[in-house]
Amino acid sequence: MKYDLHSHSLLSDGALSPAALVARASERQVDVLALTDHDTIAGIRLAEQAIVDAALPLALLPGVEISSSWHEFEIHIVGLGINADCPQLQERLASQQQRRLERAREMARRLTKFQVPDCYDAVLALADGGAVTRTHFASHLVQIGKAKSMAGVFKHYLAKGKAGYVPNNWVELAEAVRWVQDAGGIAVLAHPLKYKLNGKWLTRLVREFSEAGGQAVEVASSQLTPVQKREVWRLCQQFALVASVGSDFHQPTDWSDLGRSLYLTDDIVTVWQQYPAHFAAVHQQLAGRNAAANRLENLLAENPAPPGDFS
Ligand code: AMP
Ligand code: MN
Ligand code: MN
Ligand code: MN
Repeated sequence: MKYDLHSHSLLSDGALSPAALVARASERQVDVLALTDHDTIAGIRLAEQAIVDAALPLALLPGVEISSSWHEFEIHIVGLGINADCPQLQERLASQQQRRLERAREMARRLTKFQVPDCYDAVLALADGGAVTRTHFASHLVQIGKAKSMAGVFKHYLAKGKAGYVPNNWVELAEAVRWVQDAGGIAVLAHPLKYKLNGKWLTRLVREFSEAGGQAVEVASSQLTPVQKREVWRLCQQFALVASVGSDFHQPTDWSDLGRSLYLTDDIVTVWQQYPAHFAAVHQQLAGRNAAANRLENLLAENPAPPGDFS
């Protein structure tokens, strides 16, 4: 069974619509996909509907990726198996979206000092009703010729300490964990090696995440080497956490795609092993589809189609 428990759609800063995302995941033999857009769950129903409409052999686990504050860092908490109809979660995420809009306004203002004409409206248009992210600013700055690549924009304008960076005002990490759990989900520390923390801070992050009630850490994440995966798994063991896997897919690139490079060795305990109840619905859906496929296969075997007339 292939799991990919971290991905993005057009509802935040991914390149694909929810329907195109699930279609691609299915083509790439992913069995269980979690859609985890930044601070929004607006794509979940669309992805579920697309799976039904196209009768895809894949199950969707409802998810979200919440931006949180921890000391002076921005830490991302993935929620897996959340109830997408939970009004309290929707309200809480709406407050994050409001912070995103306020931050975007301030980013646009700061960038005007660097010969970037006020880009607030243009960036909102790019986000097209979804979560407004720094990725949309990066696309805009590339479009108007301020940098050649997205990475270049982040490096020169949007990274911490650069002209367009606005210190975050996200929900506190421990609160984000609670938001996920109040909505019935599993709280996962996303891509732990992406925060550029030294060993001491990384250990402290995993410890405090665990103390806050966090349950899992992404051990297989895009581009982690086997040695890095072991390092993260050791931290999990130290603080009684289990492993999650996620590509953090935004768009296909030469080095990343849905379901790619997410292997874990057999000794590693995973979220779906530790929390089977959260995965019961997706596992049931898959079993149902397999049973239907088997029935069809048996029917065809018992009643072979009459030879066609090809003359
Ligand atoms: P935000 O949540 O609005 O701060 O935006 C963060 C998003 O920007 C991340 O989820 C990534 O998708 C993207 N991002 C961050 N750093 C880089 C980078 N160096 N190059 C390209 N994209 C980046
Ligand atoms: Mn992103
Ligand atoms: Mn992230
Ligand atoms: Mn992500």
